[in-house]
Amino acid sequence: MQMNYEIKGNREVVKIAKYQEFFWENPHVKAGPWENVVDIDEAEARLLRFAPFIEKMFPEVKDGIIESELREIPNMKEVLGNVKGRLFLKADSHLPISGSIKARGGIYEVLKLAERIAIDRGILIEEDDYSKLADEEYRKLFSQYKVAVGSTGNLGLSIGIISAAIGFQVTVHMSADARQWKKDLLRSKGAKVVEYLEDYEAAVAKGRAEAAMDPQCHFVDDENSLDLFAGYSVAGKRLKKQLDDEGIVIDDKHKLYVYLPCGVGGAPGGVTYGIKECFGNNAYCYFAEPTHAPCMTLGLVTGLHNKISVGDIGIDGKTEADGLAVGRPSGLVSKVMEEMLSGCFTVDDARLYPYLTRLKDEEGIFIEPSACAAFEGLKYVCWKTKLPKICGTTGIGHVGGFDAPDRNSIHILWATGGSMVPDEEKKVYYERGL
Ligand SMILES: *Cc1c(COP(=O)(O)O)cnc(C)c1O
Repeated sequence: MQMNYEIKGNREVVKIAKYQEFFWENPHVKAGPWENVVDIDEAEARLLRFAPFIEKMFPEVKDGIIESELREIPNMKEVLGNVKGRLFLKADSHLPISGSIKARGGIYEVLKLAERIAIDRGILIEEDDYSKLADEEYRKLFSQYKVAVGSTGNLGLSIGIISAAIGFQVTVHMSADARQWKKDLLRSKGAKVVEYLEDYEAAVAKGRAEAAMDPQCHFVDDENSLDLFAGYSVAGKRLKKQLDDEGIVIDDKHKLYVYLPCGVGGAPGGVTYGIKECFGNNAYCYFAEPTHAPCMTLGLVTGLHNKISVGDIGIDGKTEADGLAVGRPSGLVSKVMEEMLSGCFTVDDARLYPYLTRLKDEEGIFIEPSACAAFEGLKYVCWKTKLPKICGTTGIGHVGGFDAPDRNSIHILWATGGSMVPDEEKKVYYERGL
């Protein structure tokens, strides 16, 4: 693309182009209510209808509701030092079925597809007990349909596993960043895996093109899907309930700060949408990206959204945070986040491993390198008290000004993946962080 003057002269773009770590406070963030993008209640109700089916197919999923623990991590807080308020980990790393945040959106989209097919055929109504979808009659019907997806790994795992459970024929188009164990696992579940030597964007494009030629094939479009987004957004209400159960109130004296690792943006964007819906201006959400693939930061900083990729400013998109190895953000998500997201920050790969090792030592929890990017957000939001000054703004962007965290604040690191990483790989990651 032709680089225009504005991009060349933009202070933030210069930092991004040099792979510098930095924090960007979003000056466009607005007070709610925000534009209505998806119907969260509808998505939540659909997941409830499917709970008996999920419980039947995956007995390890309690009550058939795919949810993760919200866990306070006081030892880690101590180690990090100077975290103002309480520190929690949202353990999507341990979500059942596919061990990452993709178990929210990915599974939701495939379930919705199955429901639509069965309802259109006249063999399912919403009031039914959906466990019958596991019966032979339904599986035979679903086996005539195909599902395809392009992925760096975790979305592929989630779509592959749930599609195979439903009975769909499923193809996962995997980018070069995808780990071998993810491909092996998918094949063992009966998914077809197509490997590319190119990056995520190319894998998605090829998958999309192949699926477009087949009317029986549903393509899960990580860059544009409202269904994925809706599935992720349910997390906000679930989180609210978990906080309520802990007796934790979020209000203007007790603010919530959430740090979410971002790839194409769908998962953290959907979760942010759900959180803002529940907590409004009392929640601040921040995205974490690798310095080598800060696609959402670049899209938001320039206002060009998906019209710019990290390659356009000469950076390589190569990162060990495989879940975040994305060069161009989702245009859909980037535009919605423009008025909701409080900020973004970028993290050098080398910082991920010490967090990984420390979390394991202190709290006994393993999360994958991508998920560790969230920790750096604390540094910008808590460890430097004068945030507005640091960020070069007066806090105007935040409605009513930015509230620096205090002892009443709640911080949540969204741990996006890790429990399904094979033990030998866990060991390698752990040792790197020592
Ligand atoms: C997919 C993923 C993310 C980011 O989600 P996007 O929808 O790509 O932004 C973060 N962490 C992990 C571990 C992931 O698998």
